[in-house]
Amino acid sequence: MARYLVTGGAGFIGSHLVEALLAQGHEVAVLDNLSTGQLSNLEGVRSNPRFCFMHGSVLDELAVDQAVQGCDVVVHLAAAVGVKLIVDQPLHSLTTNIKGAIVVLEAAHRYRCQTMVASSSEIYGKNSNGPLTEQSDRVLGSPAVSRWAYSTSKAVDEILAYAYHRERGLPTIVVRLFNTVGPRQSPAYGMVVPRFVRQALAGEPLTVYGDGSQTRCFCHVADVVDALARLLNEPAAVGDVFNLGSSEEVSVEELAHRVVARTGSPSPIVHLPYEVAYEVGFEDMARRVPDTAKVQALTGWRPRRNLDDILDDVIAEAKGAGLDAPQVGRASPPG
Ligand code: UDP
Repeated sequence: MARYLVTGGAGFIGSHLVEALLAQGHEVAVLDNLSTGQLSNLEGVRSNPRFCFMHGSVLDELAVDQAVQGCDVVVHLAAAVGVKLIVDQPLHSLTTNIKGAIVVLEAAHRYRCQTMVASSSEIYGKNSNGPLTEQSDRVLGSPAVSRWAYSTSKAVDEILAYAYHRERGLPTIVVRLFNTVGPRQSPAYGMVVPRFVRQALAGEPLTVYGDGSQTRCFCHVADVVDALARLLNEPAAVGDVFNLGSSEEVSVEELAHRVVARTGSPSPIVHLPYEVAYEVGFEDMARRVPDTAKVQALTGWRPRRNLDDILDDVIAEAKGAGLDAPQVGRASPPG
């Protein structure tokens, strides 16, 4: 049994990881400022005596120091997430990601904790080749474009993790998360699956951005958490980086049709130009497919749930929460 700190543990992925770690018998502390995470995500674990919640920001050095002290492992998930959020609040996103990572890594080094840092497939920028291996090139546009600034901030997080490992001997593992979806993911920050599902259940038009030919691979959060847990238990993962994601590629247009079919919704599918959905100059990647051979070779992991399983889980959750009422605007504000 180990003592874990999960920063951002009240968030979508964090809360699922917290449940998995507690189920393995570990002690788990969460540090979260509840900016995009929610206490309700932790409802199922709050009475567990091996769980504790700390309300605080990764930008608060004292709070981070106190949270890290006494821990064996730190999983740093706290970050600005969602394309909509990072386009609307670029400065906040950069500060949270870069300074937050420095503060957390510094504290982890102070207390000699194994540390996992969550990166993102956004670091590949608009490299639309596929499948992307961990060695694939980053292809970025101007740093004046918020999306590429965000991409750079996540790359800096990775570079910091590598540097702490190489220069200070901190055992770090970097995970690059591709599109991760499932129950508890909020539609408020732009993610397409929760948005389409809520739009369909509310009988509102599903808003496909661009021509809908862009493709993504959606991985169930339970599969991603399984991979995180395997890597955390794998000494050979230390000092390395791993892509995590599904290889089931689907276009956004096809996704919209799939959501309409599986919800039985009368909703139409409409198309919106990117500059209306996000901002002038916004660029999307045509394709984003991970090569996950590395994590498979090391841990035997592969995703067990397909896109239909994912959609059924997200639809069931949204129906259970009474979310089949109008509420998803085209440009729902972050936060
Ligand atoms: N998207 C869309 N409609 C929406 C939200 C997103 O068509 O209401 C598109 C978005 O432009 C992108 C894809 O769906 O091409 C995946 O978007 P998401 O924000 O979920 O992930 P990411 O862009 O980071 O892959």
